[in-house]
Amino acid sequence: MDDQRGPLPDPGPNSALPGRRPSRADAEQAVRTLIRWAGDDPDREGLADTPSRVAKAYHEFFRGYAESPENVLGRVFEEVGGYDDAVIVRDIRLESHCEHHMVPIVGSAHIGYLPGSRVVGISKLARLVDVYAKRLQTQETMTAQIADALQKAIEPRGVGVIISARHMCMTTRGVHKTDSITVTCRLLGSFRDDDRLRREFMRLAE
Ligand SMILES: [Zn+2]
Repeated sequence: MDDQRGPLPDPGPNSALPGRRPSRADAEQAVRTLIRWAGDDPDREGLADTPSRVAKAYHEFFRGYAESPENVLGRVFEEVGGYDDAVIVRDIRLESHCEHHMVPIVGSAHIGYLPGSRVVGISKLARLVDVYAKRLQTQETMTAQIADALQKAIEPRGVGVIISARHMCMTTRGVHKTDSITVTCRLLGSFRDDDRLRREFMRLAE
């Protein structure tokens, strides 16, 4: 069986979807409708496989609904080995979709935390970004979600999350502000209260 045409996995407990999930055929039919709405013929040769490709792409764009921060951050490392300064990972690639226009938001996330008794693998911070980025989002919401999930999972003394991103809904349509970058920030604990730490971290977004 061609698994490309099989049902997608269950969207999981984090999905905001009420009721039954539409079938893949339903989704492909909706793409055909949008092609017609745009003014083209979904049956012409170049577009024949497009509904199926779009459905498959959605699976990738929105796979965050099937993931949870608990799964990604589940295995934390308790041993900090005396290290008690901030851990900062910058320039984590971020690809999301705005919930208003369903077009890409592309940018970077910078994440910092001041360990308490637990640390987490650096690659897991990148995966945590994807848990929330691979959904329909606003930049403000995902910034807060990433910070709050990290705070809850490892209870550090402080957390900082900065996202700087371009919104294709601003650069390719509407106001066409091609150079604008949106910066959002959430600071918790020491990252909010300690001037030195806050300044050091905020410099990352410049
Ligand atoms: Zn938008």
